Amino acid sequence: MSERIFIGVAWPYANGSLHLGQIAGCYLPADIFARYHRARGHEVLMVSGSDQHGTPITIKAEQTGQTPEAIAGHYQREFLDCWERLGITFDLFTTTGTPNHAAVAQDIFLRLLEKGYLYKETVSQLYCPKCQRFLPDRYVEGVCPACGAPGARGDQCDACGKPLNVTELIEPYCRICRTTPVARDSEHFFLKLSALQERLEKWVAKQTHWRPNVGGLTQRYLKEGLRDRAITRDIEWGVPVPVEGFEKKRLYVWFEAVIGYLSASKQWAKEIAGDNERWHDFWDEDKEAKSYYFIGKDNIPFHTLIWPAMLMGYGGLALPFDVPANEFLTIEGRKISTSKNWAVWLPDYLARYDPDPLRYILSINMPETSDTDFSWRELVRRNNDELVAAYGNLVNRVLTFVYRNLDGQVPQPGALKEDDNALIKATQQALEETGKLIATCSFKQAIMAAMAAAREVNRYLDEKAPWKVIKQDRQAAADSLYVALYAIGCLKQALYPFLPFSSQKVHEYLGFAGRVEDAGWQPPDLPPGQPLREPQPLFTKLDESVVEEETRRIGT
Ligand SMILES: [Zn+2]
Ligand SMILES: [Zn+2]
Repeated sequence: MSERIFIGVAWPYANGSLHLGQIAGCYLPADIFARYHRARGHEVLMVSGSDQHGTPITIKAEQTGQTPEAIAGHYQREFLDCWERLGITFDLFTTTGTPNHAAVAQDIFLRLLEKGYLYKETVSQLYCPKCQRFLPDRYVEGVCPACGAPGARGDQCDACGKPLNVTELIEPYCRICRTTPVARDSEHFFLKLSALQERLEKWVAKQTHWRPNVGGLTQRYLKEGLRDRAITRDIEWGVPVPVEGFEKKRLYVWFEAVIGYLSASKQWAKEIAGDNERWHDFWDEDKEAKSYYFIGKDNIPFHTLIWPAMLMGYGGLALPFDVPANEFLTIEGRKISTSKNWAVWLPDYLARYDPDPLRYILSINMPETSDTDFSWRELVRRNNDELVAAYGNLVNRVLTFVYRNLDGQVPQPGALKEDDNALIKATQQALEETGKLIATCSFKQAIMAAMAAAREVNRYLDEKAPWKVIKQDRQAAADSLYVALYAIGCLKQALYPFLPFSSQKVHEYLGFAGRVEDAGWQPPDLPPGQPLREPQPLFTKLDESVVEEETRRIGT
């Protein structure tokens, strides 16, 4: 039966390049999941986009003397290029800067207002008398109350990492003109989360399939009690508040960006599906689509409480089915810090290496249940010892041998023996098992199951040694090579969500036409006599010098 799967992926801020932590955290797992479901013949809609609003963009704009639009446009193009080259297959990757997004965000705002889930309140905020503007937290700096470092931001001290409340800063000043800010009253809209606490509790209690870290953190927030949150702010960059008297205010980015999942779906329906109403298939409560949100762990409460609260308040739209949030990826044993350049940047990686080895290492080492570490030594080792040695060489050795010695076509097997049938069965089962694990978002175990099957094929071939046997018994060699080709046909399907570029090649070397995804999630139909194509090595062995060269670049 065809299922409908909606996949929402975190919206990156359009103020800097993507790094490997973000790829392992949400983009790669989402893509593996989407590719698997598409191969199963399910209807999939995967969307995301760049987050153009919020102070990280305006600060970068002021620092570099560009407009926020120019910065956002630059990174949007870079993101799209990265998705293409890494093989992250969004149905739509848009931005929060579109008129469509503003309209959808304002519609949600107005419906929540009409239904009594929003209210106005006057709050005291920091104001710069010289710049004549209210100052968002990140525009105020001062001395850190925890460690005494100067230059701590209103929301966090970079020196000691402590999250701060802007009013705690000692000797605060405006980061634009260094004037001391004053407190001034301002009226804002608040989202009445407290009114939805009970409904959220009942709903969360039923989500027993969530990962323990996701469920645990969500329960903790619920126990503390949800507090109403301001959803507007005094800033000029963002989605306008559709209420008279609020012309100089904008929707707060945390409220507006999550609405991107819905606005992107509507944009997809109109511009890509060619049917304005198609988004309903994935969003209406009664359509039984399952929504998955792939995000990093720092975003959990926004997707398990706040976005569901907004959807509940709005009414009629499907709540998340699962939020498989990952933990963090560290780099060479240390927490990623973009400001200290302690990161591996995706555009740098893609400029020098192939996409599949990165997809491989980030999958088999995915931070699903605890933080994991990326190191270049590990990448080189896994690339050479696992990807090249266990899988790439297997494919290359078998296909080259058959191509050269058995007329370049799938051989006709005779009566298969017990061990032949056992290997066929084992690889069929590995394909099924890999799929089941992907469907439950256990990506690490899934790729391990597929790789274990590859090792089994190697053991089988070591025993059968068709390269030697062919001299005395051509049929016996043809039998084991047929079995090996069949097994490779299962492996390229099972590994497709993880290694899409090389799976497509194997698909073609085996003589199949079209896309590997369209072959479905099933063992290959491999008719004897099917012409093969001459194979090329699937992966490149990396030189040890890569380790030193690349490690040196980090943090400099
Ligand atoms: Zn100022
Ligand atoms: Zn500090």
